[in-house]
Amino acid sequence: MRQSQLFTKTRREAPKDEVAKNAQLLIRGGYVHKEMAGVYSLLPLGLRVFKKIEHIIREEMNAIGGQEMSFSVLQDDASWKATERWDSEEVSEIWFKTKLHGGTDLGLAFTHEEPITRAVANHVSSYKDLPFSAYHFQSKFRNELRAKSGIMRGREFVMKDLYSFSRTQEELDSFYEHAAEAYENVFKRVGIGSVTFKTFASGGVFSKFSHEYQTISDAGEDLIYIDRSQGIAINEEVLTDEVLNELGLVKDALETAKTIEVGNIFKLGTKFSEPLGLMYKDEAGKEQPVVMGSYGIGLGRLMGTVVEVLSDEKGIVWPESIAPFTYHIVDLSGGDETVKQRADDLYQAMTARGVDVLYDDRDARAGEKFADSDLLGIPYRIVVSAKNSDDALEVVRRSNGEVLSMSRDELLG
Ligand code: ATP
Ligand code: MG
Repeated sequence: MRQSQLFTKTRREAPKDEVAKNAQLLIRGGYVHKEMAGVYSLLPLGLRVFKKIEHIIREEMNAIGGQEMSFSVLQDDASWKATERWDSEEVSEIWFKTKLHGGTDLGLAFTHEEPITRAVANHVSSYKDLPFSAYHFQSKFRNELRAKSGIMRGREFVMKDLYSFSRTQEELDSFYEHAAEAYENVFKRVGIGSVTFKTFASGGVFSKFSHEYQTISDAGEDLIYIDRSQGIAINEEVLTDEVLNELGLVKDALETAKTIEVGNIFKLGTKFSEPLGLMYKDEAGKEQPVVMGSYGIGLGRLMGTVVEVLSDEKGIVWPESIAPFTYHIVDLSGGDETVKQRADDLYQAMTARGVDVLYDDRDARAGEKFADSDLLGIPYRIVVSAKNSDDALEVVRRSNGEVLSMSRDELLG
C-alpha cells in the first residue's frame, strides 16, 4: 500500500486522557481510534494486525479440531435464568442489558457459555455425538469499572472463546492438555512466548485450578509467582502453603512479576450442561450430563500486550507474524526522479510477488519519514536513496536497529 493513499495519519501526541502505553502508541500510529474510554475502533493498519492475530488463533484452534461458528451478541434471558446467572450479583455489575419494545429482557453478550450450551443441546443426544469442540470470534460487552489499560481492557472487545464437550472427566482432561498446547503455540507465534507463563489460578466447583496465560509486563494487573525451570507460575490469588506443597514448589525460590492475563482455560464440568439440559445417552442407555471446558483469548488484549512488551522509546515493534506489513519502503528521493523511479519499481515488484509492503511515497522530510517508520514498527525498513543502489539497498531491522545491505534481487527472493 502507498502511504500517500492511507487515510490515517500519525500524530506526535496521544490524547491527554490516554494513560496506557499500548493505546498511546496505537493511536499515535493511526492503528486505532478511541471512541471513548474502554471503546476503541480498528483503523486500516490496526485491522491488518488484528486479522493476522485472528488467523494464527484460528489455525491453532482448527488444529485441535475446533469447529468455527458465530453466535449472536443479543442474548435471550432464558438460558441465563436457567443457570441463575441472569440476576447474579457477580455478573450484574459488568452486564449491559436491554429490552425489546414489548419489555422482553435481552442481554448483550459478556460471555457465551449459556446460549452455546443451550444450542448445543439441540444437536447432542448420544455418546456417539461426542466429543467435539467449537469456537467463535465474537464481540463481548462488559461494563468494566476501570478501563485504564487501553485496548487490553475494553468495554467492547472481541474474544475467541472455545468450548469443549466431552463424555467424561478423562476425556475433558485430555482435551484440556491439547488446548493448553494450542495456547502455547499462539503466544509463541505472536512473539510473547518467552515471557508468557501457564499460571495456576482459581478453579471452580469442578476443578481445583484453572490456568491463565500470564505475560510479564509492568502494565499488568496481576501478580504471579514464577518457577522458570518448569515454565509454570501461580497467581497470587491462589498462593497458599497447601497449593505450594501440592505443586512441589518452594515460595522463596519463586520469582514474582506483574503480568497481563492474555488467555485462560477452564474446566467447567457439568456446571452449565446440567441446568441447560445438555445430556447424552451413554453406551448403557443412561442419561449423562456433558462435561465441558471453556477457553478464552481476548484479541485486543493480546494485541495490546504485544505492544506493551515489545515496543521501545521510538514506537511499536511488531513481530513479523502479526505486523501490518513486513516491509516499509521509504523513498528518500527528495525530488530525484531516478531514485523515485527505483523506489516505485521496487514497491511494484515486491507487491506483485505478494509481499506485504507499505511504501512511504509521501513528499516529506527524511527525519519525519524515519520517525513515522519507527513509530509504526514494521519489521524491515528499506531505504531507497541517491546514496544507495539496487545492488546494495539499506535494510534496517526495526527490532534491534541492525542495518543490512541487500540487493533488489535478494529482496525479491
Ligand atoms: P480479567 O481477569 O482480566 O478481567 P476475565 O478473567 O474476566 O479477565 P474471561 O472472562 O475469562 O476474563 O475472558 C477470557 C479472556 O478474554 C481473558 O483471558 C482476556 O484475554 C480477555 N478479556 C477479558 N476481559 C477483557 C476486556 N475487558 N478487554 C479485552 N480482553 C478481555
Ligand atoms: Mg481473570
